Amino acid sequence: MSRCERTWDLEVHHKRVDGGNGLNNAMVLCRTCHKNTSSWCDPNHRSPEPFSDSIKKQALERAGNRCECEKGTCCL
Ligand SMILES: [Zn+2]
Ligand SMILES: [Zn+2]
Repeated sequence: MSRCERTWDLEVHHKRVDGGNGLNNAMVLCRTCHKNTSSWCDPNHRSPEPFSDSIKKQALERAGNRCECEKGTCCL
């Protein structure tokens, strides 16, 4: 089982819906893994405050421009 190493279709995911829009609540996920997060599927999901372009850029740099998903099951 290996972790996701996609470097394309990257999106910045909110770790916690109520965690705000700062860098500490940001996680880089590829589109596939992002769709597999529970909040994505929840019809009652309220979109949290969007990340600013500068936070997205910092999150991508921190992640090395790679998906940070480590579940290993949704990435195949
Ligand atoms: Zn991924
Ligand atoms: Zn994944």
